[in-house]
Amino acid sequence: MEEKKLNNSVIKELMEKYKTIWALSHFGSLAHWDLNTYMPEEGIESRAEALAKLAVLSQKMFLEKDFLSLIKKAENEKELNDYEKAVIRLLNRSLKYYQKLPPEFIEEFTKVTSEAHVAWKNAKEQDNFSLFAPFLEKIVELVRKKAELLGYEKHPYDALLDEYEEGLTTEESENFFSQIKEPLKNLISYIKKSPKYKEEHELEKHEYDREKIKAFANFILTYIHYNMKHLRIDLSPHPFSTYIGKGDHRITMRPKDNFAKTYSSTMHEYGHALYDIQTHEDLHYSPIGGGTSLIIHESQSRFWENFIGKSKTFLASIYGEMKKINPEIEKYSIDDIYHYINLVKPSLIRTEADEVTYHIHIIIRFELEKALIEGKIKVSELPRIWKDKYQEYLGISPKTDKEGVLQDIHWSQGSIGYFPTYSMGTALSALWKKHIEKELGKIDDLVKTKEGIRKIQDWLKEKIHKHGATYLYNELLQKSTGESFSAKALLDYLEEKYKAIY
Ligand code: MG
Repeated sequence: MEEKKLNNSVIKELMEKYKTIWALSHFGSLAHWDLNTYMPEEGIESRAEALAKLAVLSQKMFLEKDFLSLIKKAENEKELNDYEKAVIRLLNRSLKYYQKLPPEFIEEFTKVTSEAHVAWKNAKEQDNFSLFAPFLEKIVELVRKKAELLGYEKHPYDALLDEYEEGLTTEESENFFSQIKEPLKNLISYIKKSPKYKEEHELEKHEYDREKIKAFANFILTYIHYNMKHLRIDLSPHPFSTYIGKGDHRITMRPKDNFAKTYSSTMHEYGHALYDIQTHEDLHYSPIGGGTSLIIHESQSRFWENFIGKSKTFLASIYGEMKKINPEIEKYSIDDIYHYINLVKPSLIRTEADEVTYHIHIIIRFELEKALIEGKIKVSELPRIWKDKYQEYLGISPKTDKEGVLQDIHWSQGSIGYFPTYSMGTALSALWKKHIEKELGKIDDLVKTKEGIRKIQDWLKEKIHKHGATYLYNELLQKSTGESFSAKALLDYLEEKYKAIY
């Protein structure tokens, strides 16, 4: 029999104690999911109160003497395997936050970001940046303070990046963005000059029946997934995926999206869910069960969204089901549908961007965040600089702040340092694709059958998912494929695919 992944006796004792903290987070996730799906609107006050208390309780349990000394004891154990070492690494990571950020800071940060979230919503609705600006100024100030409290080696932005991707630095992100910036700008101008370039596809204008779209999303999941007994889909204002616990994974879709948007967001969230579903079962009640690296997580969601969801052969195999949503789809050939799903055009909204222009949206945010943290630009200058950068990089400029600087939720939540993981995760997905194709054959061929799709799922499980959060993204890539992280696979893929389409 294979040895258990977490086998050391001290680690086992530690995990037995950790299970109570795990249980709190289990119910925290469930409460968050409910808040976003079925909770009546006015339940927000009591839910926020309950969640805050739960967080405090969990911190308290974490900092209990017995638990801390058990972590210390485990650290001194000899011959721990990679999984056991990762358990300690992640517990120490949480500990660092609990110890370095004073409770008064956490309280102020939580309070400011809750208020800022409401201010941001109003500002966006009314298209009035000045309603949000004072909150954002406060957030930037607090986030800069947070960087100092957490500490960093070279750049304060390093401390912020590390919150979302352990160990990620400003230098690494900068290096990545400088690799993709020029090639993408060139590819975009190539596409715009193509006779096939168009700003909109007719299919975008069709009216769709919501119930039929929902049925289609359900069909997609039943078609690609092998066990619907541990996965469900519901409606929420923003699509997300959440791992509640072993055998309980939930994803959501927007109630009002059209067919193409629901299709791509469902594929995307499924990629996130599958990662957690396929984590090795020994890791489920531990801090390494499921992924914590946002780059690895995003590499999984983007993998399903882009390489499977946008593949012509996959689209062909679900074409029959697509026609059930809207009989008008019958008028369009698979080639038309393929072009529609893969339409490239500079646009203002990041979440609606295509595979090519998407990264430009991220580069703009990265440059702005870094300059804000360095104190090189002021919050009041953001709307203007935002417009200038869109003009410079994409040749379009938002007329309103709603379509510009106010579009993303992240800054209102105090999440500065998050955006780079989206782009880097996508670059990582291209590396996984390259290696899958080397070992199993073309994805376009694999997705023709359910067996082929299963082969992809098994590969992802073996190389990525089963390890949960044990390895950092560059370590995992090296270990599973022997390759180092770079943007090359992404750029090669985009060049080849879009020069064939346009
Ligand atoms: Mg995602």
